[in-house]
Amino acid sequence: MAKQPMLKFISVERDMPEKREAGVRREDFHEIYAEYASAKAAEQASRCSQCGVPYCQSHCPLHNNIPDWLRMTATGRLKEAYEISQATNTFPEICGRICPQDRLCEGNCVIEQSGHGTVTIGAVEKYITDTAFEEGWVEEIEPIADRAETVGIIGAGPGGLAAADWLARAGVKVTIYDRYDRAGGLLTYGIPGFKLEKDIVMRRNEQLERGGVEFVLNCNVGEDITFADLREKHDAILIATGVYKTRDLQGPGSGAAGIVRAIDYLTASNKASFGDDVPEHEDGSLWAEGKSVVVIGGGDTAMDCVRTAIRQGAKSVKCLYRRDRANMPGSQREVANAEEEGVEFVWMAAPKGFTGDPVDGVIVQRMRLGQPDASGRRSPEPIEGEEYTEEADLVIKALGFEPEDLPTLWGQDELPVTRWGTVKADFRTGATDMDGVYAVGDIVRGASLVVWAIKDGREAAQAMLERFDMASASVAAE
Ligand code: FAD
Ligand code: SF4
Ligand code: SF4
Repeated sequence: MAKQPMLKFISVERDMPEKREAGVRREDFHEIYAEYASAKAAEQASRCSQCGVPYCQSHCPLHNNIPDWLRMTATGRLKEAYEISQATNTFPEICGRICPQDRLCEGNCVIEQSGHGTVTIGAVEKYITDTAFEEGWVEEIEPIADRAETVGIIGAGPGGLAAADWLARAGVKVTIYDRYDRAGGLLTYGIPGFKLEKDIVMRRNEQLERGGVEFVLNCNVGEDITFADLREKHDAILIATGVYKTRDLQGPGSGAAGIVRAIDYLTASNKASFGDDVPEHEDGSLWAEGKSVVVIGGGDTAMDCVRTAIRQGAKSVKCLYRRDRANMPGSQREVANAEEEGVEFVWMAAPKGFTGDPVDGVIVQRMRLGQPDASGRRSPEPIEGEEYTEEADLVIKALGFEPEDLPTLWGQDELPVTRWGTVKADFRTGATDMDGVYAVGDIVRGASLVVWAIKDGREAAQAMLERFDMASASVAAE
């Protein structure tokens, strides 16, 4: 009888790829996890119990066919694993690296719930596509038809890139406009290399370029070209501009020198990783070496800032967050990584003001958790009279992002937006009420996740194709 290749979760323990030692990894910006060796990937995939109703899959925004690609990996059929994996995900090797799996697929794995430790879905997903690239299984983008339509995409982040990939394969001519000098959006200039090395992103940009996608970089829509011009030029437009307006700090001294925005700090660091000249590193304004750094916030952006400051050689790095550890929005895995690297978390602490200009301290208000708010999270409230000053000569604001005011910036009053300023679009198709204008990713959802942007991009691209087909069918019928 053939040996049962799966359901090994009782005999095989969960084992993540090796993590580089904290003292070593804090010296560079390389990813912290190594790749699985092939035997290890097969062994870990074999832990899956092949659920009839796979909760991992239903909690993956892309509904990846996880049990099937795990079975193929466990049985050595890696090329088939890759084919199944890439059928539902445009960038599986990116999601495998940076999805917060503990909140999505892995957090819903049933064997985790039975106390055996979740299947390492993300690490196997990354392994499959990294191997496919090494083995030459990743094919070039070959358009299946030569279509006449053109689409203009504003924003080369994961939402825009996923849509471009889908449309280019269908034969649509795609031009992506981005105000940065490199494509990738936050994959390139937000998320640091220790989570996602830059050549992984550039490899995808190059694949798209070879597949016929045109990139118009250093082009700020609204300044260098108008939105109206783009509508004239293309049969459809996709808005995938993300959210970049930083939520600000209040309180006395909040305008002092040395208090900087997380996005500026991370962009400068990522540019330096490409070898670019970064004047803000040379003049010290966005450079942490030898400084007492305080990062304010408790999300993914704050985690990336504290760990970047450690790698720049800060004297000390503290993260202030107004709730407790259990109620923070950032991934627990990233908090643990940050702690190992030497970051100190100050829970239940909010900035009340700042001393000095340039800044030399943060006045910290101690907090406690009160009643749950509308979202069910307990609201932080100040403890009267309990405050102190935390030394700081670089303060990084990582309180989240909001959408820019696109209707005003682009002179498009009729662009529909919600009361939060996000673009109002159908969640299944990305269609807005403006004819031929679609929107995806963070600019629709508010600050969200890469995997959701990819899903949105694929779905909007498909909706555009259906619209083009309907238009040509009605012309043919006339
Ligand atoms: P973006 O990636 O923001 O791309 C938008 C692009 O539009 C940018 O390139 C921008 O230059 C361009 N653009 C904007 N306006 C214009 C204009 N007027 N003209 C031309 N171009 C324009 N998500 C995860 O899943 N895992 C993580 O670990 C994670 N870490 C994160 C860390 C940080 C620091 C940040 C800020 C976010 C993180 N996220 C993470 C969230 C994730 O990066 C976003 O949800 C995702 O990138 C959104 O994709 P998008 O395509 O909508 O927009
Ligand atoms: Fe999990 Fe993200 Fe991969 Fe889906 S895309 S299987 S949520 S890591
Ligand atoms: Fe396998 Fe876990 Fe998914 Fe079940 S929930 S199919 S055990 S990965």
